[in-house]
Amino acid sequence: MWLVRCPFCKEDKDKVVDSRSSDGGRVIRRRRQCLACKRRFTTYEKIGESFKLYVVKKDNSRVPYDRDKLIAGLQKACYKREVSSEQIQQIADKAEEDVFRNFDKEVSSAFIGESIMRHLRVVDKVAYIRFASVYRDFKDAGELIEEVSQVIEEAEGNGQPELF
Ligand SMILES: [Zn+2]
Repeated sequence: MWLVRCPFCKEDKDKVVDSRSSDGGRVIRRRRQCLACKRRFTTYEKIGESFKLYVVKKDNSRVPYDRDKLIAGLQKACYKREVSSEQIQQIADKAEEDVFRNFDKEVSSAFIGESIMRHLRVVDKVAYIRFASVYRDFKDAGELIEEVSQVIEEAEGNGQPELF
């Protein structure tokens, strides 16, 4: 795992006080505070280079974060739907921003799943349901039906003419 060292005292324990991403989520700028000398410094992390984020799965195993896997999951959910590959990339960008803004070493697969669902829901409701049924791991059919009816209600609501 990648170690961040304080430029002042060379300690490797710090906390992240602020994170911003740029370049479509490919570069993350983090303000950090050294836990030893309390001084602040900035790091820039580029995905795929020094930056290593681990995904913690439900069984507590860790795998390196892989954008391609995320895209593959989205493509599966969007199969035969009117979602362009550009839209898929955009959803991935947004989800990555959520992730990189909040986590610097590891993130749960559940957080990534929820983030993707949030952004996918706006784009395509059927794809959303497909994705959710895999990621949210509905405990029974009732839960799935509840989610589906809620989405249908929303979709119908959107089709109604505005009153004002
Ligand atoms: Zn320090």
